[in-house]
Amino acid sequence: MVFCPKCGKKKIVDVLCEECMRKEIPLLECFKEIEIILCSESDSIKKGGKWTHYNDVWKAVEAEIIRHLRFSENAVIDEITIKNFPVERKPGLQRDHDVNITVKGKAHPDMESFYKEDVMIPVKIRCTISPKYAKKGTEYFEGTLQLRNPSDEAINFIVKEIDKKKKDGVFLNKIADVKGGVDFSITSNEYTQQLAHEVHKRFGGEVKTSAKLFSKDKNTQKDLYRVNALIRLPSFKKDDILWVNNKLIKVLKFKGDDVFGKNLLTGKNTSTNYQRTDFSVLEQFETTISKIKPQIEILDPETFDSVDIANQHSDPDPTKPVTVVQFSGKWYMV
Ligand SMILES: [Zn+2]
Repeated sequence: MVFCPKCGKKKIVDVLCEECMRKEIPLLECFKEIEIILCSESDSIKKGGKWTHYNDVWKAVEAEIIRHLRFSENAVIDEITIKNFPVERKPGLQRDHDVNITVKGKAHPDMESFYKEDVMIPVKIRCTISPKYAKKGTEYFEGTLQLRNPSDEAINFIVKEIDKKKKDGVFLNKIADVKGGVDFSITSNEYTQQLAHEVHKRFGGEVKTSAKLFSKDKNTQKDLYRVNALIRLPSFKKDDILWVNNKLIKVLKFKGDDVFGKNLLTGKNTSTNYQRTDFSVLEQFETTISKIKPQIEILDPETFDSVDIANQHSDPDPTKPVTVVQFSGKWYMV
């Protein structure tokens, strides 16, 4: 028969009786203060030297506390409960918390039942700025997007697109009004190129990009380039009437070097490349219909004579004003 060396009881687990084991072997071994590092600018936590994004700050802190807990060698842990405390995030913040932790388990697998152990653990929350965010709001830039012939729509698009990249550490650090347009200073060279491509896809125009070596990355020792992307938007916009490649197009949208719209000569949708060809943007006039049969006629906006229109396929409401353009001496209804 084996007896507990502490109390003399007969029934033992391993070397001690169950009761003495609870007293002598805590589930949680001695621990040091736990330090948790959060980014003050973004939803990220430093874990084992690496910054990781989180969705819920409390869940991230809780998981990090649990990761630091050390249990006694043979312990079987059933449940860990950490009492919630408010986690603040501010630049430079350092705050000490005494955190209540309840561990349910047993010190040895042969013990009959689980029991609870309450402990208080010091946890320090420290806020710093993750390297990705350290560039925010500084003079730093790796790319300049130079928008020329800018439209409000394109400017808004650019600002919104860059804002969406915040979570990846890309920032718009400066917007400058310059002669002929707007310059955007962006913290990522790669993204500047990508964005220039997207702007071109959506708004057309010409794009010229160039890159220049400016530094070496301190961490990776890789060469760092500054990208300059010059986008010259077309001199015409949506709803303009364009004479191009023998088509008379009411512009609906752009896609790269092509313009999409309705060909007023045929009444059908069409697209055409406008980049390497001459085109004219026609002035639009408002006038009234003077005749509908046998042919549609309008009042010439300059002479007020009743004149033919060259595109006869539309079916206009004669009581309403119409918009017309003139090309090569002929009038066209828009
Ligand atoms: Zn005992």
